[in-house]
Amino acid sequence: MSGKTPSPSVQALETPLLLKDFPSAELHARLAPLGVTARQARLLQLAAVRHGKFPEAVANGFSARLLATVQRVATIPQLTIVDKRVSPQDGFAKYLFRGSDDACFEAVRIPLLHKTGDEKYVVCVSSQAGCALGCVFCATGRLGFRRHLATWEIVDQVIQIQAGSAHPVRGVVFMGMGEPLLNLDAVLRAAQILAEPSGLAISGKAITLSTAGIVPGILRLAAERRPYKLIVSLASADPRRRGELMPVEKLYPTGELIAALRAYHAATGQRVTLAWPLLAGLNTRAEDARQLAELTRGLPVQLDLIDVNDPSGRFRPPDRAELDAFRDALRLHLAAPVVRRYSGGQDIHAACGMLAGTAT
Ligand code: SF4
Repeated sequence: MSGKTPSPSVQALETPLLLKDFPSAELHARLAPLGVTARQARLLQLAAVRHGKFPEAVANGFSARLLATVQRVATIPQLTIVDKRVSPQDGFAKYLFRGSDDACFEAVRIPLLHKTGDEKYVVCVSSQAGCALGCVFCATGRLGFRRHLATWEIVDQVIQIQAGSAHPVRGVVFMGMGEPLLNLDAVLRAAQILAEPSGLAISGKAITLSTAGIVPGILRLAAERRPYKLIVSLASADPRRRGELMPVEKLYPTGELIAALRAYHAATGQRVTLAWPLLAGLNTRAEDARQLAELTRGLPVQLDLIDVNDPSGRFRPPDRAELDAFRDALRLHLAAPVVRRYSGGQDIHAACGMLAGTAT
């Protein structure tokens, strides 16, 4: 025993610091008491996020002593890949991960193979294990809520998928398991790490946050003017019908949600994308299109139509005739772009609404 009392700042570092858990400025703030500079903090982040290890001391301007001190207080956590399935039909890949405990969660690698020589991926990540919101058309909602994911558990989904992939990951969507805006601190920190040059250097504009309509989270995004895109699941413009499909309606009614989206657009200038899971006989009538147009009048939106995927068979997507009639009604009433989204990986249960945190 030296007889010396450690300084408070060094004592504060005695719980291991998880290097994938911090944006670089925050990492620097934590490690500065040890003598780590801002540049060295970025090098530490880069080595941990891109290579899963500590930097080589000499090549990167660390003294062997400083690096050894950092290694004593910091670790590089890593998710376990429990299962991976690749769809032979469309190349979508579903990963089942385990993080700091036995809770499992999934991510999906979506191939963008439209241009030979420019193949890339978008990764759909989970922000929670399970979900508390209970949307009736979603397998994750039927699981119930288990816990929030830590920042590093979100970031490492992308890192692990990138490490095992032939092409670069150029975009990330927070549309996997969970409601991102109910775990917003961890999600925003993860998005920052994904976007930082010393992180994964994914453009902020290629990062999309989705929500079932958590109004305080939307207002926070409006106030902070982050560069990320926002997708809001609506499912119906009729509050009564929406409440039957998405219980979150009882917490944040449609009127409050649309008011928050108007505030978001006013603050950021961004068009909001509305996701519309297509549910035969439930939200594809001409009246649904008319109500949607009325609800969103004056708010620049894009409407994404997504076939429901319900292995239980309770909900099914509309047939060709029903879909065409709905699209005609949207053309007539809604002055906004309408995009039909392909939800792939159905054969491996990787499509929208199918993530249930188990190997299939
Ligand atoms: Fe939760 Fe999203 Fe599923 Fe709704 S759709 S239950 S918010 S994971």
